[in-house]
Amino acid sequence: MMLPKPFQDSCERLLGAESTRLFEALETASPTSIRFNPYKLSEQPEGRRVPWSRYGYYLDERPQFTLDPLFHGGAYYVQEPSSMFVEHVFRSVMGDDSAPLRVLDLCAAPGGKTTLLATLAGLESTVVANEVIRPRSLALADNVRRWGLGNVVVTNNDPDHFAGFRDWFDFVLVDAPCSGEGMFRKDPAARAEWSESGVALCAARQRRILQSVWPSLRPGGMLVYSTCTFNTAENEDNVRWMTDEFDCEGVDIPVDGGWGIVCGEAAGIPTFRFYPHRLDGEGFFAAVLRKADGRAHEQTPRPRKATLAALSRKAVAPVAGWVAQPDYMRFASVGDQVYGYYTTAYDSVAALAGSLNVVASGIRMGQVFGTTLRPEHPLALFHDLARHSEAGGPNDSLRKALSDAGLSPDVTPVSQPRHKGVVPDRFVTMPEVELQLSDAQDYLRKKEVDAALFDEGVNLVCYAGLPIGWAKRIGARVNNMYPKELRILNL
Ligand code: SAM
Repeated sequence: MMLPKPFQDSCERLLGAESTRLFEALETASPTSIRFNPYKLSEQPEGRRVPWSRYGYYLDERPQFTLDPLFHGGAYYVQEPSSMFVEHVFRSVMGDDSAPLRVLDLCAAPGGKTTLLATLAGLESTVVANEVIRPRSLALADNVRRWGLGNVVVTNNDPDHFAGFRDWFDFVLVDAPCSGEGMFRKDPAARAEWSESGVALCAARQRRILQSVWPSLRPGGMLVYSTCTFNTAENEDNVRWMTDEFDCEGVDIPVDGGWGIVCGEAAGIPTFRFYPHRLDGEGFFAAVLRKADGRAHEQTPRPRKATLAALSRKAVAPVAGWVAQPDYMRFASVGDQVYGYYTTAYDSVAALAGSLNVVASGIRMGQVFGTTLRPEHPLALFHDLARHSEAGGPNDSLRKALSDAGLSPDVTPVSQPRHKGVVPDRFVTMPEVELQLSDAQDYLRKKEVDAALFDEGVNLVCYAGLPIGWAKRIGARVNNMYPKELRILNL
């Protein structure tokens, strides 16, 4: 499909003769890239890195990610390279070791930047991933569960609903809904849906979103505004509008000249543009604003509902042993389910759950029957699940599986076993069953799996050392506990 003429005109105004190179690039194939989960795998020492990301890599081909158990186990996320610039921004403005932070990803689905921010902010931080469209918030929650860090709260709210959280967040990302010009080669629907009036509507909506969320940023806090579109109405013009409306200053981000990013400014605020003819990634725009210093009047809304019920000491006993570092966690029940949270985040989660529509939070561990926990799927994917000492360490089969999937020549899990030798009594560790690729795919399709592979009772199902779910063997039968709604359909 042809590029819309008014779009071409606006690019010519922006880029002059260079615009023809942009139009040519928009007719080429998009690069394929993934970002590793460093809590499940260590960095890849070889391969072509996305220059502005520690964890991002280009792939030569596009494998069928849906059939890869490592994807379902949260070992990596498929993300377009330019978006990974948020990693470089976060590191530049917040440093590597600033936890615990309160981070808001306001327009978060499907979760590319959420999983990135959760990784960077650290386990002791609270990352709120909000998505206003309900079905998209559910897909976001699935991706957050796969990632398995336990430091994210997924909410399904209008940006206005954050108004009660005044001066509360240290870092806010507004990755705004936009006209999507930067996705024209990746997503043909974006071309078909584009119109000049759509651009104006998007720009106005972006300003409403920014206006709603600005009071939630604490004085001195950072707001990143990003879009995946080229036109100035949704980018520089909105940055200028923010400098008129808000008491803020721009933040410069050091950028390597060889990366191909176009650095500019709007009303003195540094801006960063990504063009597919200048670098290996889609169209993207970002600017960082720092809220002026001042006294913070931190406020949270009065809770409308009782939410988390902290577990008593006695009730904690059957659940704490399932995680490797229970001393850093607090456990609570919501209805009949038990959840685990990092202690530093607990009060923030309770405040959020009191007034927002929480779709997922922390780690849903399962239901307690007497003195036993029946584990739920998110617990299997938790990066800090208690495991046998011989499991979870560097694993040759994981390396081979990644390379077979065309993903990586050499990757090892990052977390070394914490309990070498004897597992302390208080840890609950399930037998682990290691499935070969086709068995693992059958498990993910929720098909029957061979009972002979399993021990009696609940087993942690792994592929190449990476947990992908639970299964319970009762005699000759195996109850495949993989959630029905997540099963992969026959491909
Ligand atoms: N940050 C996401 C990621 O990296 O995976 C992509 C976000 S996408 C560019 C913008 C999101 O904003 C979409 O999920 C969309 O549903 C949501 N959205 C749409 N209208 C909105 C509104 N009025 N307020 C807030 N978010 C909105």
